[in-house]
Amino acid sequence: MAVADHVDFPTFMEGVKRRNPGQPEFVQAVQEVAEDIFDFIADKEEYHAQQILRRIAEPDRVVSFRVCWEDDNGNIRVQRGWRVQNNNAIGPYKGGIRFHPSVTESVLKFLAFEQTFKNALTGLPMGGGKGGSNFNPKGKSVREIMRFCQSFMTELYRHIGADVDVPAGDIGVGGREIGFMFGQYKRITNEFTGVLTGKGLEWGGSLIRTEATGYGAVYFLANMLAAKGQDLVGKSAVISGSGNVATHAAEKIVQLGGKVLTLSDSGGFIHDPDGITQEKIDWVKAHKTHRRGRIEDYCAEFKSATFTAGKTPWAVPCDVVLPCATQNELNGDDAKMLVANGCIAVSEGANMPTDLAGVHVFKDAKIMFAPGKAANAGGVAVSGLEMSQNSGRRSWSEAELQQMLKDIMAGIHERCLTYGDQGGGYIDYVKGANIAGFKKVADAMLAFGVV
Ligand code: GLU
Repeated sequence: MAVADHVDFPTFMEGVKRRNPGQPEFVQAVQEVAEDIFDFIADKEEYHAQQILRRIAEPDRVVSFRVCWEDDNGNIRVQRGWRVQNNNAIGPYKGGIRFHPSVTESVLKFLAFEQTFKNALTGLPMGGGKGGSNFNPKGKSVREIMRFCQSFMTELYRHIGADVDVPAGDIGVGGREIGFMFGQYKRITNEFTGVLTGKGLEWGGSLIRTEATGYGAVYFLANMLAAKGQDLVGKSAVISGSGNVATHAAEKIVQLGGKVLTLSDSGGFIHDPDGITQEKIDWVKAHKTHRRGRIEDYCAEFKSATFTAGKTPWAVPCDVVLPCATQNELNGDDAKMLVANGCIAVSEGANMPTDLAGVHVFKDAKIMFAPGKAANAGGVAVSGLEMSQNSGRRSWSEAELQQMLKDIMAGIHERCLTYGDQGGGYIDYVKGANIAGFKKVADAMLAFGVV
């Protein structure tokens, strides 16, 4: 037996840091998973001998490319694009595309790594991938966005395919951008296939894909509460973000009888003590998505609210929390404040919004804490259903899809219980999600031998 087969956790993490210099987000995501997996595999010789964790933490490939485009003033602009194909042991690579100035190789590697476990948890046959660019859509005209999307796809098309790698949306990439990219893919390849998800309903998209991530995060929250004999009726919710995930999470909280107190964007957060009703959510959707406005404008429209510039909403006392903006938006001090203010449950609508210190605070306080890879899997799950509908050349009804989404979220909750139930009424959902997601991918990798 080679010595390297049984490295301890600190030595393993040292290796990850050494091999991924300048990639803190990726190292953080690996550490959060490895903390649980080391315990789980302690007595499982085959996972050690086959170096499974080491192999999952090394992407199958990282494709990096130049994206040139011309802005409305005739200037030539140069961006960097990537597709990280992390693991395809249980299905084609699957995961979104992010356009945001904060995108780096580290961010996309962390997202592709997380996606691998998330997709496994859905129970659907999807591997993990992620892509994107440091392109900033803010302030760009629709024509500029179209030209960028076309240029991005002109390189990406050779690396993807309905049975190879199926991208979707993420931050900065919604239905409009998917349309531009799908149009360019179709133009280059002359193929109409399910190569992207999040498509428009007229051209192969699925009902409820838009709502699925936010709704799913609330279904997961409701499942956690139900396991303790509770529900959302009368519960106050603090939500960050104001995009697709946040607004649909807010909508489902309201439908299930809860009261939404906050929403936010990069400029700050609004606090509406009267509650953000469906009518107000509809206004936010139109303002943010169609008018590309700022959340602070909410206060001019609805006088009951206040705006706090440059801050996250975690100081507002509440029963439940849904971080739905971006990675590392909630730190250890925020987590302590939330626990001290009586928060009983957190369901992550974004990917890795809680940093490592925050995760440890929630775990130590033994509150209900659902990590993104479990709680926000509803989006990619309905993407998986979109792939099935495309392959079968059919469309399911809204009622069928709503039921499938609910069932999938309940199934993920069940899978988390298998390894997360710590006895004494405490469920460690981080551990449950990490181990259940890992085991499915790891067992597939074992079947394939050393490849
Ligand atoms: N970007 C979403 C996520 O983080 C959705 C990915 C997909 O639908 O493929 O899960």
